[in-house]
Amino acid sequence: MGWLGIDDTDHINGGCTTHTLYRLICDLPTKYAYQNPRLVRLWPFAAQRTRGNAAVAIEILTEDNEDELISFLNNWWNENILPLKDQISISQDYQRKQYPADPGMVWYNTQPQDDFYWSAVTREVTINEVPKADFSWGGHGVIGASAAATWPGVNHTYEAISWRENKCIVNSTRRDIDIAALELVDSDPETFMSRDMRSKNILIAPRGNCPVLFGLRAKTHSAAEKNCEILISAAKTEQVEGYMIFKTNQATDDHLTESKTGIVTKINVLKRGTVVIETQHQGKLLAFGESGEVKLLSQWLQEGDLIEFNGLKAIDQSVHLEKLRVLKAKPNRQRPLCDDCQVTMKSMGKNQAVRCPKCRRTSQILWCEIERKPPFDNWVQPPNDARRHLAKPLDWN
Ligand SMILES: [Zn+2]
Repeated sequence: MGWLGIDDTDHINGGCTTHTLYRLICDLPTKYAYQNPRLVRLWPFAAQRTRGNAAVAIEILTEDNEDELISFLNNWWNENILPLKDQISISQDYQRKQYPADPGMVWYNTQPQDDFYWSAVTREVTINEVPKADFSWGGHGVIGASAAATWPGVNHTYEAISWRENKCIVNSTRRDIDIAALELVDSDPETFMSRDMRSKNILIAPRGNCPVLFGLRAKTHSAAEKNCEILISAAKTEQVEGYMIFKTNQATDDHLTESKTGIVTKINVLKRGTVVIETQHQGKLLAFGESGEVKLLSQWLQEGDLIEFNGLKAIDQSVHLEKLRVLKAKPNRQRPLCDDCQVTMKSMGKNQAVRCPKCRRTSQILWCEIERKPPFDNWVQPPNDARRHLAKPLDWN
């Protein structure tokens, strides 16, 4: 009995690591039972990340036949994964440096401590930090493969992933998913992030040339399975090769640490509404143009406001905001109104009384404070379609 992990088998011809695991399991000799397939998302800023920065693992039950299993894995690696090496992995983020796929596979006959997982989900890790596997194949991909195998899986959700029949994939990035069935699935409170109600985007289907037809997220295994069956058996959904329910660290906030507080010193609104917030002791925070309410709240901020926030620190040390709230808004100051004329009084000079320009009446109350009410009273986070896979929806707390 042990854990098999695989990563970095995405490639230009539209490979996908989840599909690699599915194919391997289809070929696994029937004497081996398997359980707990899992899909683990890693630190989003990792330099050599693959498309979704996800790795997979599965528990395979062996008795005294581990040697045979290793020889099966070895052959399968040589025939199916090794040929993928050095094909450039495809990415929707063309600004990022492209690395050749460098697949990795690991076998642990007992699951190692979870320390490595926590490192790999919160920061850049190197290949030297990977816990020693009983068997290990390939290169850089062993990082993700080991992280998936060492994930403790305590905080978790599920994702049902289905793969397209080969004939559907050829020359086609269009995916046929039955919309009526999707509406039904989306109305189940146990599923999440299937559609974005605001943009009407379907969030379960990837774009581009990839064998995944859909990945349906759910809070429970049974909801993932039931709703996946509804989708694939619906009349207008295309033929699938198969599906698998993965336990996953999506929507767990595992990548985040405690939220922090800070006082705003300056904001700067850039193109597309992206906001740079400077703070007294917490450095620079970024609210991106597509971050919805996070962006709107950021644009509203002024110097002196006390905020609480969470997000990941990027390579340039700025924090990319994933959650934001205002703890205390600094009131605006303005000159008082004249009681008689309702006209704004004017200063007569530095630190001197103010005077009504109309009736000449003076006052020693130099300023009055105007409370500012934030557009959102509580935490905000980016909309469904702009949120990280790892981010937990606010209304789950
Ligand atoms: Zn007056």
